[in-house]
Formats: sequence, structure tokens, C-alpha cells
Amino acid sequence: MGGPSHPEGDAPPRFGDDVHCPYCRHTDSRVVDSRTSDDGASIRRRRLCPACGRRFSTVETTSLSVVKRSGVVEPFSRDKVVSGVRKACQGRPVTDDSLALLAQAVEEAVRASGAAEIEAHDVGLAILGPLRELDEVAYLRFASVYQDFASLVDFEDAIAALRIDHADRPERASDARAGEAADTATDQPRD
Ligand SMILES: [Zn+2]
Repeated sequence: MGGPSHPEGDAPPRFGDDVHCPYCRHTDSRVVDSRTSDDGASIRRRRLCPACGRRFSTVETTSLSVVKRSGVVEPFSRDKVVSGVRKACQGRPVTDDSLALLAQAVEEAVRASGAAEIEAHDVGLAILGPLRELDEVAYLRFASVYQDFASLVDFEDAIAALRIDHADRPERASDARAGEAADTATDQPRD
């Protein structure tokens, strides 16, 4: 719901902070329009400088912190997502570009919760889905570490879940199912 602009009138004073006019360095400005980005992560404001009359834009990004298991809080970092996933992708046909896209998807997913703080565990959870789309072997590696797979049964369960997923999406079934069970996929198993 990007509301309509406030024409000239009373802009909310709460963001008057220290946004200098980039033209004349005047220390005050009036917000004439605000829009939230589609992913909700940033707000773009159109501002008017009362001193020189020029307009400029600012983008405010909401901060997102990650709380680690140790209790340490650090800013969310796409680079950390990438480096965490990259290990699981060793030897796999995964490009840097696709890792960057994955990190972006993860950021959008965790920001969609609207929370300013998220637990590191939940970042890991948000990685699993996009990584599974990207490369299933890397996904299994990552999940085995992240979810503490203790035995072959855990791997079997994860692989079984992937197979069920393949059955739901026959267009991708060819790389996992060799031969048999071609048409049994129609009544989708669920649990
Ligand atoms: Zn100015």
C-alpha cells in the first residue's frame, strides 16, 4: 500500500535526522513522497530542500540483525550466507551468480518476517529451500551439517522427501528417478 504523497503539507517530522541537502548542504528537508520497496526492506523518500528548492531521494534500509547461538548479535550479511553455502557446493555446478541470487532470496525471506532480529538458526532454515532448488547434492550436504544428521536414516528421510517433491513436479523427475515408477506420481503422497 504505498500511500499517496503528502503534497507540500505536514511531512512526518520523525525522519528529519541528519539528511543534508546534497546540493546546498542545508540540514533540513521535507519529505514529499515515501514508497516501500516490494520486499519491504527499504523505504525510498522523495525530499524537498526548503532552502534551495531542489528535490532529492534517500533510501532507508531497515537493519536486520542475526542472533547467533552464542548470543552474539551481528548484522545480517549476504556474504556470510554465500560463504556458508559455498562449502556445501564444492565440486557442484553452481555459479557465483546463482549463489548471489540465493543469498538475495534468503535475505528477502528473512526480511519478510518483518522482525529486526532473527536467529541464526532461522537463517539456516531460510537457506534450505532455495538451496534445494539450486542443487540437491549441495542441499543434502548443507542439511546434514545444519540439521545435525546423525545417521543414514536422516539422509534417507531427506532423500525420500526430495523424491516426493520430484513426484509433485514431474518436469524435474528425470534426473532423480531412473526408469521405474513412471506414472505412480499422480496421487501425491503426503505426510
Ligand atoms: Zn538545498
